[in-house]
Order: sequence, then C-alpha cells, then structure tokens
Amino acid sequence: MKFRLIADQRETFPIRIMCDVMGVSPAGYYAWRGRPESPRKAANRVLLTKIRRSTRTTIVLGVLGLLGLSSLCRGVEADVQPRPSLGAASRQIPLPVPRPDMKSPTPSDMSAVPKLVPSPSVLSEDDTSNHCLADLKIAGAQFSPTPSDRLDGRCPVISPIDIISLETPSGRITFPGKPTFNCVFALQLAKWLSNVAAPLVKILAGNDLVTLETGPGYVCRMRNGDTFQDAKLSEHATGNAVDITSLGLANKRQIGIAAVADESNPDRRLLTALRLTACGYFTTVLGPGANAAHATHYHLDLGVHGKSSNYRICE
Ligand SMILES: [Zn+2]
Repeated sequence: MKFRLIADQRETFPIRIMCDVMGVSPAGYYAWRGRPESPRKAANRVLLTKIRRSTRTTIVLGVLGLLGLSSLCRGVEADVQPRPSLGAASRQIPLPVPRPDMKSPTPSDMSAVPKLVPSPSVLSEDDTSNHCLADLKIAGAQFSPTPSDRLDGRCPVISPIDIISLETPSGRITFPGKPTFNCVFALQLAKWLSNVAAPLVKILAGNDLVTLETGPGYVCRMRNGDTFQDAKLSEHATGNAVDITSLGLANKRQIGIAAVADESNPDRRLLTALRLTACGYFTTVLGPGANAAHATHYHLDLGVHGKSSNYRICE
C-alpha cells in the first residue's frame, strides 16, 4: 500500500523523501516496482501521470528546501524527471494573475463596485465572469450562486459563489461551511488545494484531505474589525479571502491550524508546508504567530498591497 502511494506520487515528490516519510527503504520500493505490472495498472499509471504532469508545481520542491529537506532531494532517482536546483525551484514559484480591479475600496467609497478594466480587445465583465465560472467547474469545483440575502449592498462581490466541494487528483474535499467567494478567488483556492495542499496532506499526514473547515469567506467588514474612520475594507468584504481553521482527514482525524505554533506537534511540518506553499498562490498569508487575531487560523487573500500586484505579505 505504501509502495503504491509512493509510485502514484513519484511525479510530484522525490522518492527518497517519500520513503523517509513512510518509513520504508528506497531499495524495498524499487524491488516492489520491479515486479511485472498488470495491463490495467499500467493504463491507470499512464493516466495518472498525464493528470499529475498537468498540475504539478515546483512549489513543493521549494517548500521541501525551506523545511530543511533539501539534502534529501539531491540524488533523486532516475525515474523522476530532471528538475532544477532547489534554489532555482524556489524562484519559480508562480505568481497569481494580477487583478487590476480588486483594490479594496476605502470606507468613504463603500458603494464603489470593483470593475474589470474595459478594453475593446478584452472580454466584457460578464464574459470574464462566465469564463471564470466555467474554469471553476473544469477545476473540479461544485458550487452554487450566492443567495442575494447573503450579500450586503455596501460590499459588492464580482461573481459570488458558495463553494460546496472540490474534486482533486487526491480525492474530493468538501467545505462544510459553504464559504462565499468571488469567482477569481475561488479558482485560485481550488488550484492551490488541487496542485499542492491535497497532495501534501496525503504524503505528510498519510491520509486524504476530505474536509476543509473555514470561516464564511465573505463578510462585509473593515480589516481586523477596525471601526475608525480611515479603516480599510477587509478583503473578506469582496469575497477575496478565506480563513482556514482545520483540516479533516479520511480517517476522521482533525488537524487544527493552531497546532502549527506547537513545536512538538507532529502535524507542525505539514501545517508549515501548507503555509509556505500558500505564499506562492496568494498575496497575503497570515497565521498563528503573525498576530493575536490569527492565532487559530490561516488567512489567505488576493489583496493588492501598495502599487505592486506582486508584493506579498507572508507571515
Ligand atoms: Zn481572514
């Protein structure tokens, strides 16, 4: 079973590291692989490889390096495709697509609806929303339009949806809280979960990620609950943020995000890896240790900081 899992994930993670995590020897794995493969297994393996190649990301390697596992990544076996050094991999973390329309309105501009910049050569806002919703379906998300009574007119949201579940190469993840997001944010969250988070949970926790406990996503409020006059609108107010509180595994185990602050907790490595990889997909990542307001959850958003859409806050 462990060898099968390692074989399934070998396009994503170095074999030596997976063997180390699973407590088996690389020699044992290669001996197992040497056995003849049935035609059906061979066909499944080819299909899985195609799927994983389309979703694989170099972020995982960067994270392994940051976790101090870079020495384990050297001398990776020949059946893993050549990859750049960890230093180069770290620099290749993909940036999210800049969103010229998603700057948070100030309190004095609460009625301002963030709009996509129109251009004769660019799709209309409706077309763009339709494309996003179509992409979200293709990404494996099950979702429904947000009921109008859930939305506050002072905090408009572009293409609001309530996400119910997400089909990933590592299994289906459900969202018990059915959080509300704008479509672009939901799509980015789906990509991170499918490409990185779900495989990391499978490898480092040894079980599929089946539920993601979150806050409500959309909330019409100021940042950090501030109420003073110049307070900035929270990214939650445009459906552009998520608060993740815990992970539910297939074996019914729950991993609370707060555990990342406990150096002796065995889930700390997984939670740290999730936090670091999120920094490659989102422009703001806050969690335990950043400040008291984030002691028990990870806050991820796609807010634009300053004048650069590439500037990130990763704490
Ligand atoms: Zn938040």
